[in-house]
Amino acid sequence: MTAPTAPVNADAGFPDPEHIAAVLDRELKRFVAEHPVAAGHHDADDAMLGGVPMPWMRRWAGGFPVIAAHAEGARITDTDGHQYVDFCLGDTGAMTGHAPAPVVAAASARLAAGTTMMLPTDDAAVAAASLRDRFGLDRWMFTLSATDANRAAIRFARHLTRRDKILCFSYSYHGAVDETLAVRAAHGRTVAREGNVGAPVDLDVTTRAVEFNDLAALEEALAHGDVALVIAEPAMTNMGIILPDGGYHAELRRLTREHGTLLLIDETHTFSVGPAGATGAWGLEPDMFTIGKAIAGGVPAGALGVTRRIADELLDDPEADLEDVGGIGGTLAGNALSLAAMRAALTEVLTPAAFAHATAVADRLLAGMNAVIAKHRLRWHALQLGCRVEYRFVADPPRDGTASYATLNAELERVMHLHALNRGVLITPFHNMLLACPATTMADADLHTEVFEAAVVDLFA
Ligand code: PMP
Repeated sequence: MTAPTAPVNADAGFPDPEHIAAVLDRELKRFVAEHPVAAGHHDADDAMLGGVPMPWMRRWAGGFPVIAAHAEGARITDTDGHQYVDFCLGDTGAMTGHAPAPVVAAASARLAAGTTMMLPTDDAAVAAASLRDRFGLDRWMFTLSATDANRAAIRFARHLTRRDKILCFSYSYHGAVDETLAVRAAHGRTVAREGNVGAPVDLDVTTRAVEFNDLAALEEALAHGDVALVIAEPAMTNMGIILPDGGYHAELRRLTREHGTLLLIDETHTFSVGPAGATGAWGLEPDMFTIGKAIAGGVPAGALGVTRRIADELLDDPEADLEDVGGIGGTLAGNALSLAAMRAALTEVLTPAAFAHATAVADRLLAGMNAVIAKHRLRWHALQLGCRVEYRFVADPPRDGTASYATLNAELERVMHLHALNRGVLITPFHNMLLACPATTMADADLHTEVFEAAVVDLFA
């Protein structure tokens, strides 16, 4: 540990913007100087769109990403020879830790034994049973991503209810799902969220967006009788962690039932709450359930669970073409590689003991952040959802997406992330989010506390 630092007695949530810019400039110079290989890669006129495999990789705080060489457990080594403690963990895709041994063994064996036969393997039923036992939904279908699972759920719901619209919460995120890239505008209409690329139709046609935690708005929106499905995370995770008010989920369930609307719970991120997600921990009763990323230990996979009643209705409906070109599909969905990895991740890695350890590390991360926030009188806060912790630059946690969006400070976020990266700590580019995995240690949490305080002292000094 470094020598104790004196409190900076910050009396504002945000440091002076000019000072942020100066610290950012210094940190950027350090980042470029210490990453000549990644910088050279970035300069090359290569064939990738934006110089990266996916444009979102440009969001890393240094202006270009480090190039990953090796990842194992909670650590990543880059091609410049730096090692990082990884709290990003693939934005939950590596909640198992990187390259968990049971997944590596099962997936390697499957790769050598064929992956794309258009046939089930014996892993599939085991993976489905594990999902059923954790989350309570009776019947499961596999996809390649959480996005795919959400798209299928929306189609199912429209088909079953013969209704046009879905309801989502402003500034929620459920993947690249057309209907959900929407927010409620001041005049009450639903509009495309900022930057929505190529929305097929006016979002007001497909979606009713309301604010999370606003039961009156939810009831008003459902009363139109045209909402097929509410898609909800148990707690919002895309605009910081926004916890549901006490009793919110009970009312959400009551109102959806009363108005003949199906309820989809998307646990892609809130799976951090525990082995059965928030659904298990909080006793939620969705009609449909989606999840992706972590469940196959880093191999692409998603899953959609439905109640037995919904499964029977869909299978018995001669107008629902589930088997060919009815809009539910993906040739590689349910492939043998994803399911071998999923079986191993669910049965051998994402165990109650693994969650207990990762959550204890997250407790320590939270305690460290809170101590720094209190010591320096920052008007910030931090929240935890199981093995996930997130800090925000406001004193009081916002209760909905629009309120949280209004508190964003992209420059401050960037400099916090880059400052940490330059000191060996990776944080997810899109949030101030830190995730612990079975391999993350208490010492890793303490390292974060140390670099977090160092950034605060630099920024407010
Ligand atoms: N659901 C939620 C809650 C998400 O945050 C995300 C993406 N982060 C998704 C679904 C989509 O996941 P993917 O991009 O892996 O399809």
